[in-house]
Amino acid sequence: MEDVIQIKTDKRFIRQVKSLGGNPLKECMQCGACSVVCKLSPEENPFPRKEMLWASWGMKDKLIGDPDLWLCHQCGDCSATCPRGVQPATVLSALRHINYLEYASPRFLAVWLSKPVYLPLVVAIPALIILLILWMAGTVSVPDGPVDYSKLFPHPLLNGTFATLVILVLVAYWKGFRRFKRDIRKNQRAKIKGQKSKKNNQKRIRFFYQLKEILLHTQFRKCQTNRLRTLAHILVFSGFLLLLLVTLVAIVNVLFFEYPMNFWHPAKIAGNLGGLALVTGTMMMIWYRLFRKDAIGPSTYADWSFLIFLLLLAVSGILTEWARFGNWSAAYVIYFIHLVLVWIVIIYAPYSKFGHLLYRLAVLILLKDRR
Ligand code: SF4
Ligand code: SF4
Repeated sequence: MEDVIQIKTDKRFIRQVKSLGGNPLKECMQCGACSVVCKLSPEENPFPRKEMLWASWGMKDKLIGDPDLWLCHQCGDCSATCPRGVQPATVLSALRHINYLEYASPRFLAVWLSKPVYLPLVVAIPALIILLILWMAGTVSVPDGPVDYSKLFPHPLLNGTFATLVILVLVAYWKGFRRFKRDIRKNQRAKIKGQKSKKNNQKRIRFFYQLKEILLHTQFRKCQTNRLRTLAHILVFSGFLLLLLVTLVAIVNVLFFEYPMNFWHPAKIAGNLGGLALVTGTMMMIWYRLFRKDAIGPSTYADWSFLIFLLLLAVSGILTEWARFGNWSAAYVIYFIHLVLVWIVIIYAPYSKFGHLLYRLAVLILLKDRR
């Protein structure tokens, strides 16, 4: 008896992909050129051709928890090659976005981060929490004398609240993330079964390999079309990592050592280099999104808000430092804005485009049987 293939078409899903930039979806003629040109696509079970097919047929169940979406680095090689101008790189980006929304827990936070109408709420929540902390500490008025942020902003209370919120968000997020892991494992098992490839199954990827790949961007560097974008990504990633480490050092200093640190403190120097890398990298990415639409495709609100928040975070951090050394009258306001941006970028991270870091790392680790 012949097998009957049942396709579950979800029209709402097709509309959603289109609204997130995958508009010319139906133009795809399944030639496979995109999969051939993609340097990151495995020989067996390649992407993105099959994702294009699934997306145009509205096969949501195939695309939610599809691990290959996270192996794509949106380099644009496939879009530059596509004879129909379909922009598969953008379609994959839209599919990743839908995956964020699907797995986010609580989901409303991911919705807030992806729609401009919620922007005032997204900004107001951390701003009000910080103001509440100032009010509780009784330090609402601007202090006299040389700028000393700790006089206005009670660091132990701020750091304590921040750390508690990060933990709460991560605990809430873990629920959705477990579903993501379960689906990735399930899809991966199905693929391995279908491939019957012992060679691939025998190759084990160790954790250090994943870490090395992420830190050195070894996969990203295989991309051909947008080489400068790879450099931009390296700058943003390393700059942010450096700033995160410096923030941890600063928190330790607040608790146990001297604070504020002087200009020549190694952590301060690292922070300045990190800030510079972050500003340069985000500016390059913004330039790409503005002037290389041919290569990168249309950008969504989530793409823009992520980049702009990152840029503002880096710029406000640098201004906060200058304002302290220069005793600017606006110093406390600048620092307040910087704190709000830190909270927006870090606390909302799993619900914004930043979440791709968590998902990609998880997929690379979970797919250790694959390469
Ligand atoms: S997206 Fe473009 S390159 Fe890829 S299969 Fe469709 S038509 Fe071919
Ligand atoms: S954007 Fe780059 S990594 Fe992603 S599918 Fe296209 S060629 Fe492959």
